[in-house]
Amino acid sequence: MKIRTLLLFVVAFFWLSKPALPSDTSTKEFQGFLRELERRFAEYGWRDLKPEKIPWEYYRTTDRGRPLFFACFGNDSENCTILLAAVHGDEIPTIYVLFKLADYLKENPEAYRGGCIVVAPLVNPDGFLANPPQRVNSNGIDLNRNFPTRDWRKDALRHWEATAHKNKRYYPGRKPGSEDETRFQIALINRFKPHKILSLHSPLGFYDFDGPSFHLDNFGKWLEKISRETDYPLKKFGVYPGSLGNYAGLERGIFTVTLELPSSEPRMAEQFYSKFKPAVTKFMDLGIAGHRLLQLSD
Ligand SMILES: [Zn+2]
Repeated sequence: MKIRTLLLFVVAFFWLSKPALPSDTSTKEFQGFLRELERRFAEYGWRDLKPEKIPWEYYRTTDRGRPLFFACFGNDSENCTILLAAVHGDEIPTIYVLFKLADYLKENPEAYRGGCIVVAPLVNPDGFLANPPQRVNSNGIDLNRNFPTRDWRKDALRHWEATAHKNKRYYPGRKPGSEDETRFQIALINRFKPHKILSLHSPLGFYDFDGPSFHLDNFGKWLEKISRETDYPLKKFGVYPGSLGNYAGLERGIFTVTLELPSSEPRMAEQFYSKFKPAVTKFMDLGIAGHRLLQLSD
């Protein structure tokens, strides 16, 4: 009897002390994090989001221990699109747009039939939850200048000094790919092997794209059509050392679109969702095999 009791204690001890899997979103920590987000969302008047209903996953955290989370809708082996928001933590309405889109995908499985959509609505949670929200992450690094592009070591710091005049908001870091949030995006690209990526930013007010040069003209035409339909300009913004467009679009041939919303004002978020949802939906539907566009007419 004594031995059985002892065994019970030993088993209970190991069971209770077993750390939760990092991807376990039912943990108190992750649920607490969602509450923290919801409190912030409520300040912006965003009361219609349902983050607790989404099947989030996470395997990585930021330096401050916040989850780098995403949800995958559909079959991850199929034609895949990755959607990213809040790479810059102060570009607040981008977060609403992708949380709202995750709600939409959850309710409308036909929207990702035959493919997969990966939604990462808050790539830089430490920047967003700073007071006030900030562009850079908690190490002061611009995550859209930190990708390990081929030109990084030669050009990133030089570019920051010459073009950004050492503005701290654009600091690329001391090493390429040094940040958890950058490695998180790279891990998503490696795991899901997307054909398309859409990254939401604000407040510059245009579409921009980078991708495989062979069919860039066709893709450019498709985007020109979307630009006309949504009455929103298409601009070639340029390529930067360490940017996602450079890393994913130019170096890996992934069709990479940046949607710069026209303002970073949180209270405009619902309006932006309504305006851009048709374009985002069409982007998700756009069939791509290898570097080929399959639905150019639509
Ligand atoms: Zn941005």
